[in-house]
Amino acid sequence: MLSKEQFRQVYELLDQVTPLPEDCGRLCDRKCCTEWEKGAGMYLLPGEEVMFTRDEDWLRWESHSTDAYEFCPAWHGDFFFVACTKPCPRDRRPFACRTFPLAPYLTPDGRLTMLLDDNGILICPFVREGHLERLDPRFIVSARRAWAILLTDDLIRADAEWQSRRRDEAGGAWTRLFRGR
Ligand code: SF4
Ligand code: SF4
Repeated sequence: MLSKEQFRQVYELLDQVTPLPEDCGRLCDRKCCTEWEKGAGMYLLPGEEVMFTRDEDWLRWESHSTDAYEFCPAWHGDFFFVACTKPCPRDRRPFACRTFPLAPYLTPDGRLTMLLDDNGILICPFVREGHLERLDPRFIVSARRAWAILLTDDLIRADAEWQSRRRDEAGGAWTRLFRGR
């Protein structure tokens, strides 16, 4: 499990740098910060709960069992799912909000690249358009650095591998890989 210090490092990499130098929420009326679908929220990474006190009044916490939902086969037990109930203090936002709309992709030989997260296709104009190059290159580089730290954790890496192979099987225009950074 990653330490709190490692999570801090990861959070800091994506603290100031965002998908665009200006607020990309203007493109979509901040869709990803709304309950765009009933119950919308996000999973915390294994161990990420160290970044929270559980007293945050802007987050609703749930615990989801790997027996009840579809998870990476290497994950067993209960994992935290959070949904925000009002705008967050930005510097406290979970990692899922920091990296979105980018997701990690591991090539079959284990090389890390970033791609647009197809899970965001219904809400994010970047994902719908499939133009990774519209994103601020500093954001892509920082997201990759953050994921490189996260992937030193066995469970997080297992999940990234599982998601990558699923994406390979699904194919699709959205899996435009960003290479070389
Ligand atoms: S949905 Fe996409 S464009 Fe809109 S605020 Fe979220 S990341 Fe930015
Ligand atoms: S935690 Fe903050 S950044 Fe994340 S979805 Fe909620 S309001 Fe948006």
